[in-house]
Amino acid sequence: MKIIVTGGAGFIGGNFVHHMVNKYPDYQIINLDLLTYAGNLETLKPVEDKPNYKFVKGDIADRSFVFDLFEKEKPDVVVNFAAESHVDRSITDPEAFVRTNVMGTTTLLDACRTYGIKRYHQVSTDEVYGDLPLDRPDLFFTEETPLHTSSPYSSSKASADLFVLAYQRTFGLPVTISRCSNNYGPYHFPEKLIPLIISRALADEELPVYGTGENVRDWLHVSDHCEAIDLIIHKGIAGEVYNVGGHNERTNLEVVKTILKALDKPESLIKFVTDRPGHDRRYAIDPKKLETELGWKPKYNFDTGIRQTIQWYLDNEDWWKHIINGEYQNYFDNMYGNR
Ligand code: NAD
Repeated sequence: MKIIVTGGAGFIGGNFVHHMVNKYPDYQIINLDLLTYAGNLETLKPVEDKPNYKFVKGDIADRSFVFDLFEKEKPDVVVNFAAESHVDRSITDPEAFVRTNVMGTTTLLDACRTYGIKRYHQVSTDEVYGDLPLDRPDLFFTEETPLHTSSPYSSSKASADLFVLAYQRTFGLPVTISRCSNNYGPYHFPEKLIPLIISRALADEELPVYGTGENVRDWLHVSDHCEAIDLIIHKGIAGEVYNVGGHNERTNLEVVKTILKALDKPESLIKFVTDRPGHDRRYAIDPKKLETELGWKPKYNFDTGIRQTIQWYLDNEDWWKHIINGEYQNYFDNMYGNR
């Protein structure tokens, strides 16, 4: 089986590439990534010499490049992680999100229907459902919850989901979609909440927290997300959407305080900053369909997972320090520059 994984130099895509390369030595895993600011080949160091792994640099929204790649590789499966993924950046530059998240997805879908594939899987987000009120802990997102987006990021992801489903209905393309809650774990780019707080707290820097920190996120360890996608591409039913989440709701402030306690740093580092415009209040996933139909169960609870994650950042300072000082961007030239 030959699988093109797009965005495999990013956080979740990188973890997924590790998972697949190690678990399926007979599969060929091709990592297609543009290496934007968020793409980091240092994440792939543990697998870069494995015979079943290959990296290709390229843009999912570049039609002739994508078609040439499909012509050459004839993949069986495509798993699309590639995206502009940071909500704050989508507020300052929405167009980049339309280009990669919407145009990039439709370009891949066109290549898939032209060359014929066994499965196209779209990695989506619970943010397509909008948010839930803070005072209704009984409410959860199901696969039937209407799409109701708040940010340019979530709007671009919801648009992509609609194209994916339209290609199933109109062209009979065998697609699946997973909509996951917030991920945490190793190799997370340090602009996102958990690695940002860990790296800044270690340097005794102020910790920016939006508003009053009461927004609720539903956290899932990235390994549990990777397991879910592995299961869906093998056993999921074409045309279906699967929610992925582990019932680990925490306010942002609780998460920050947990990290400070683990690092033995004072809460006085916390600095409340002006809230993000349109900030979603609460996300909470109902993963019943994935659990009952495909037998998925998360392995991590948040308290263990966050402790292991903090330890990973302590043990791998070089990885995130190279990002903060910009050195990670030279890795491609060092690795592939003269090949
Ligand atoms: P990330 O920003 O860490 O990684 C994105 C990767 O995509 C980077 O390696 C980047 O170089 C690559 N990329 C960007 N534009 C590209 C293009 N035009 N062509 C090829 N590659 C390109 O993102 P992430 O946090 O790992 O998220 C991966 C996917 O999972 C995204 O689709 C995101 O919407 C979704 N998701 C993320 C979360 C989360 O908590 N991080 C939760 C649910 C869903």
